Amino acid sequence: MNKDCLFCKIGTGAIPSEKIYESDTIFAINDINPQAPTHILIIPKEHYSSLLDIEEADHELMGSIISVANNLAKERELDLSGYRLVVNCGENAGQSVMHIHYHILGGRSLKWPPG
Ligand code: 5GP
Ligand code: ZN
Repeated sequence: MNKDCLFCKIGTGAIPSEKIYESDTIFAINDINPQAPTHILIIPKEHYSSLLDIEEADHELMGSIISVANNLAKERELDLSGYRLVVNCGENAGQSVMHIHYHILGGRSLKWPPG
């Protein structure tokens, strides 16, 4: 828990937010500024500033996040149309909240390469 971190505060409930998924270690919320019809953030409760903080001991947690992403996508039938799972890491990638989070984007055709 980082006392100045937005996603730590949402995770603990210090800042109220509707969680669309929650376990002991992970939660998911709808993005406040959606970039696609489905735009979900999957977030570990533990504070990691970015993908660069992930070590071997965290692999199981990261694997669980991918399962959560698949389950949320399937609930929304995005397994039929496809979806994108994105982690922005650092300045050039446009990371704006320094607590690791995975974006699920789906419900429309997404361009590649990204801007
Ligand atoms: P990043 O740019 O770091 O990859 O993604 C941060 C995301 O968090 C952005 O898509 C932004 O819209 C979202 N976001 C920022 N503040 C809040 C908030 O208070 N609530 C929710 N649900 N999403 C937020
Ligand atoms: Zn945090």
